[in-house]
Amino acid sequence: MARPILLAVDDDISVLEAVVQDLRRQYGAEYRVLRAASGHAALDTLAQVKARQEPVALLLSDQRMPGMTGVEFLERARETYPEARRVLLTAYADTEAAIQAINTARIHYYLNKPWDPPEEKLYPVLTDLLEDWKAGYRPPFEGLRVIGNRWSLNDHKLRNFLSRNHVPYRWLDIASSEDAQKLLEERQLKPEQLPVVLFGDGTSLAEANPDALAVRVGLSIQATQEFYDMVVVGAGPAGLAAAVYGASEGLRTLVIEPVAPGGQAGSTSRIENYLGFPSGITGTDLGRRAHVQASRFGAEFLTQRATGLRIDGQYRFVQLADGREVATHVVLLALGVQYRKLEIPGADRLTGRGIYYGAALVEAAACKDEEVYVVGGANSAGQAALHFAKFARKVTMLVRGPGLSATMSKYLIDEIERTSNIVLEAKTQVVAAEGEERLEALRLRSPKGEYCEEASSLFVFIGAEPGDEWLPPNVLRDEKGFVLAGPDLKQDGKPVEGWREQREPFLLETSVPGVFVAGDVRHGSVKRVASAVGEGSIAVQFAHQYLAGF
Ligand SMILES: Cc1cc2nc3c(=O)[nH]c(=O)nc-3n(C[C@H](O)[C@H](O)[C@H](O)COP(=O)(O)OP(=O)(O)OC[C@H]3O[C@@H](n4cnc5c(N)ncnc54)[C@H](O)[C@@H]3O)c2cc1C
Repeated sequence: MARPILLAVDDDISVLEAVVQDLRRQYGAEYRVLRAASGHAALDTLAQVKARQEPVALLLSDQRMPGMTGVEFLERARETYPEARRVLLTAYADTEAAIQAINTARIHYYLNKPWDPPEEKLYPVLTDLLEDWKAGYRPPFEGLRVIGNRWSLNDHKLRNFLSRNHVPYRWLDIASSEDAQKLLEERQLKPEQLPVVLFGDGTSLAEANPDALAVRVGLSIQATQEFYDMVVVGAGPAGLAAAVYGASEGLRTLVIEPVAPGGQAGSTSRIENYLGFPSGITGTDLGRRAHVQASRFGAEFLTQRATGLRIDGQYRFVQLADGREVATHVVLLALGVQYRKLEIPGADRLTGRGIYYGAALVEAAACKDEEVYVVGGANSAGQAALHFAKFARKVTMLVRGPGLSATMSKYLIDEIERTSNIVLEAKTQVVAAEGEERLEALRLRSPKGEYCEEASSLFVFIGAEPGDEWLPPNVLRDEKGFVLAGPDLKQDGKPVEGWREQREPFLLETSVPGVFVAGDVRHGSVKRVASAVGEGSIAVQFAHQYLAGF
């Protein structure tokens, strides 16, 4: 495979030479470093490498160049290599232009000149960006193939699982791929056994599901220790933050997560408002980074679902979907929330067959050049609509209210208005979903009356609710199922019934001592990545205090 390209652009030849030298020194073994002395020359270079289907990982351009500025070049280069990381080199005086360019040209970073010493001012930033690029890059295919049916829920779950765990795969739809049919015949497999996974070593897995696949792709499903200081249930931002702090502060930490690190943010296209990421970060990237960070400190991850919690004296046992259980002193519930289901005729039957909940990243490519519908008027719906607009011919947003301004952040509304293939249908409700094998039409109600529209994909973002029904009743919850903790466990100034400790519950401690809660699943939590991270981090502090009492 050709080494991915790093392209440096500057009209000042001595600066260009210095950049190229620094890039070669650090990245030369893994990447090919090319140079261009103007924006036009750089676009020509990109056209040539595109024709040869070579990957481009990074574009590093000076801002002030005659003929075409760096921002203009990066904006145009985005059309040819949208996934390449775009970095602008600026003089201090151009900082304002660079910040503007984060929005207009969607540059990923700007660096001020001079960048000496590169070990401090250049490489950390570029290495980070190249890691992000690598995580999304699919090299020419050598690995797993999934044969499935686009309109099957099992197929959707499998692809979601692989994508979220960064396992590269190629998907072959039995309805449209001749290769898929040939491959099934060659292995004497039947369409009833879909989804089928074909591995590089010639073996296959019929009627594949995430649990069976987890073992084959090297994910861990069995704990290595008999006992942990802290078991974290859920690897969203809250659970991952707890894992990083817990493990780095010496707690034997186990994280249980059935899907993949990243949580619900993992499925969003881009979190724009998380501190320290001026050009946004996808939940998947945030999850991947935190997973690496927590693992580095020694946290262990299990690809499993928690299904029960058993209390025995000082010990807490988290029960797992495969019947095993893990023992610990402290449990942190960081389960987040799950998408609220659309309660209309046809929705259950057609889930995974055209109706999806929070599946923007996995299904987007399958909707290429189609029309898709998005239900919901909050930020999650807005982000999904913008993501689909890059693939679909048309995105129709169905919103119950009169508009978006009361429910969505302004930066998203502005971007939606700028996107020509997104159409907003306000005061419109979906009242039924129709179709036999897959979604074929939606019945809508608006001030125009009730009518039917042909539809093959509907993505639902209408809020969320906790999925904690498996917790024992002594973990007290509010009427909607959110877990009560700390001061919320008091009634008329006194601890709630059932609390038998001499002390008051710690902040974030539930009605069961040693069982803590953080993030979206907590009653009264602020539903944001930053607050989930904050709660996950401080929960560890209370876990230490609890353990100190033994
Ligand atoms: C589409 C969308 C866009 C968003 N955009 C933004 C944004 O731009 N900025 C922002 O600040 N916030 C945003 N949010 C909100 C943000 O994602 C959440 O507030 C945050 O993810 C909450 O983190 P958490 O760790 O509490 O829960 P989650 O992220 O929900 O993670 C919980 C994890 O627990 C796992 N889990 C659940 N049940 C079990 C079980 N029984 N056993 C084991 N594991 C389990 C789940 O698989 C999941 O991975 C967005 C949310 C959505 C849905």
